[in-house]
Amino acid sequence: MSHEPTLPAGTTSVPPGDLLGTHRVLSPPGAMPQPAERLDADPSREFSTEILVDVETLNIDAASFRQMEEASGGDLKGVERLVLETIARRGKQHNPVTGSGGMLLGVVRRVGAQATDRGLAVGDRVATLASLSLTPLTVRRILAVRPASAQVDVEGTAILFHSAPVAKMPTDMPERLALALLDVAGAAPQVARLAQPGEAVAVLGAGGKSGLLCAAEARRRVGMEGRVIGVESFPAYAEELRALGICDAVVVADARDPLAVRDAVLPHTGGAGADLTLSCVNVGGVELSAIVATKDRGKVYYFAMSTSFTAAALGAEGIGRDVDLYIGNGYAHHHAAHTLDLVRGSEALRGLLASRYG
Ligand code: NAP
Repeated sequence: MSHEPTLPAGTTSVPPGDLLGTHRVLSPPGAMPQPAERLDADPSREFSTEILVDVETLNIDAASFRQMEEASGGDLKGVERLVLETIARRGKQHNPVTGSGGMLLGVVRRVGAQATDRGLAVGDRVATLASLSLTPLTVRRILAVRPASAQVDVEGTAILFHSAPVAKMPTDMPERLALALLDVAGAAPQVARLAQPGEAVAVLGAGGKSGLLCAAEARRRVGMEGRVIGVESFPAYAEELRALGICDAVVVADARDPLAVRDAVLPHTGGAGADLTLSCVNVGGVELSAIVATKDRGKVYYFAMSTSFTAAALGAEGIGRDVDLYIGNGYAHHHAAHTLDLVRGSEALRGLLASRYG
């Protein structure tokens, strides 16, 4: 079956562009937009399969924001400079060090004639669910950098390709909260697929945004017979997680320390290790910790963009661990609705997330 949109009469003067966005790639030739070095983000060039958005806020990926903060010695002006430099050079917010992007909040300004099937109208408030690492972006100026949520308020434009997932903003919660949740919307649905009733689930970085969602989803899935173990390095976040009452154990430990993680998780799993371990940290170097916390033939889900595929694969092989390693796909069918509903269903979780991001 063809997915090509049909062109309404009278719209032939506007070129269609490519559904996957390859018409916006400037270099290297033949690249897809995500791995491309540079995109054409010029909003005055019109393609009928595109949607043009006026951008209000960039929700920078946590691993990327942390890297830019560290590179700037904690100076937010430095983060601002790095964001502007990256967008000017690449036509997208694609952090060259972490390789990750984020997503954005904006208002639809133009819907191409061949993009009307996306169900959006001019004036709709939307969050893009495709990474900023492939979204053509211009930024005229930065209005504010908010480190607590890794969000940056801007004036600019973004182009959405026909294939890019996008969500209308919900009206029953603060937009900043919804944006933060939608940034990590792929996490909880994957837990729902991978965790089974009665199993033990360990979450590394469990006090952060995606970690809280994964822990809450794991609790729903494994039930009271199962175990949910949270590992978090920031004591205040660990305390807030404990207070939610969704974990059987919350341990303050550095997830980059494999032995500390193993010793934190194994006692709560009868010594065998977790059936499923999730990495939700915003730093590198936790690949082996997740592996040693997991039982033989268990599963490790690397949601963190700071994960090294090489370190995970060679690390597991090197210590003879037969575990299934999953790369965190940011997209799952209906992931936005799933994640928003998870939070709507728990007043305590919603309250905590709203206090941080709302
Ligand atoms: P977040 O809210 O910053 O949460 C990360 C948590 O990990 C924080 O609580 C952090 O504590 C904690 N942490 C940091 N270093 C740690 C360590 N050594 N040991 C234990 N805990 C540690 O981040 P997020 O928004 O949930 O994102 C988490 C990860 O998901 C990031 O790597 C991000 O790139 C990735 N992500 C993936 C996708 C995807 O599609 N796969 C989409 C979006 C995001 P502090 O607050 O003290 O730093």
